[in-house]
Amino acid sequence: MRKKTKIIKIGDQKIGGANPVLVQSMTNTKTSDIKSTVKQIKELEKAGCEIIRVGVPDMESARALGEIKRRINIPLVADIHFSADLALEALKQGVDKLRINPGNFPKKRLLEVVELAKIKGIPIRVGVNTGSLEKDILKEKKKATAQMMVTSALRAIKTLEKMRFYDIVVALKAPDVERTVKANSLLAKKVSYPIHLGITEAGGTFSGTVKSAAAFAVLLSRGIGDTLRVSLSADPVEEVRAGWEILKSLGIRQRGVRMVSCPTCARSEIDVIKISKKVEELTGQIKKPLQIAVMGCCVNGLGEAREAHLAIVGVRGGALITKKGKTAKRVAKNKILPEFKRELKKLQ
Ligand code: SF4
Repeated sequence: MRKKTKIIKIGDQKIGGANPVLVQSMTNTKTSDIKSTVKQIKELEKAGCEIIRVGVPDMESARALGEIKRRINIPLVADIHFSADLALEALKQGVDKLRINPGNFPKKRLLEVVELAKIKGIPIRVGVNTGSLEKDILKEKKKATAQMMVTSALRAIKTLEKMRFYDIVVALKAPDVERTVKANSLLAKKVSYPIHLGITEAGGTFSGTVKSAAAFAVLLSRGIGDTLRVSLSADPVEEVRAGWEILKSLGIRQRGVRMVSCPTCARSEIDVIKISKKVEELTGQIKKPLQIAVMGCCVNGLGEAREAHLAIVGVRGGALITKKGKTAKRVAKNKILPEFKRELKKLQ
């Protein structure tokens, strides 16, 4: 059961409450390079990114935000770490959300940022990472615990609430599944603000996706999480794909094609690995929710492909193209992909 969180508006998107869990990503271009940043955001939009965050390391980047926002179609989040001046400029440029760590700002400067965010109706995301905990919370300990992360987040939330600011989103990130799950589960019991899920420094495409999927699956099954980002040392488009695959595999949201393919074995009559790769390329841009299957043989294949809108099932000398379990045609090996393409077009 999804935990009921406060509804927060980010640009034209709403998170929290019963709103869908949104997929986020972050650019890796120089934000001051408007052209490259907009180009990357457009690619991410196409892949299904619903909220985009950009790093704002200097004033040139902050001043670029307004132009970037004008040229894109999804809400823009400015990631600010230490500088109130950059936060104020980002707000003036019209960003849709600020990501800050209130503990890094002198009280007076934080108040200036919060007051302007209030006037503009812009939410603030409190971001706590294991690597950025306050010294007095970390004390002599070498390793941050989940409880310490929660203490830091609650302190930041309290600071904002004392300034009568309640448009808050929280993110607690550790580089491992255990602390990420524990910290977010503890936090969810204490606050009703929306929670953004992420694993910090998750790793490359393979290890980072597995780690994020493991943590998100536990948290989302507990009803925790309103937005997510699969942080990867890779092209951010991969982050968006991975985010969507996690949501789709958990049955939380549907978008585009859900692939089913067999691992192949001695019974396989076709090259499942090669064909599924090709099918993934052919279906990657389809937004309509479709289930597609590629199965090596009809021993198990036909049964497994029964729910697929379109399936390729290997048989001696070629394959069957099936639709919802019914054979549409039998094709020779060299005609599998052309016939599949033809049938796919009819479904779009
Ligand atoms: Fe093997 Fe056929 Fe199952 Fe594929 S569908 S793993 S080829 S038995």
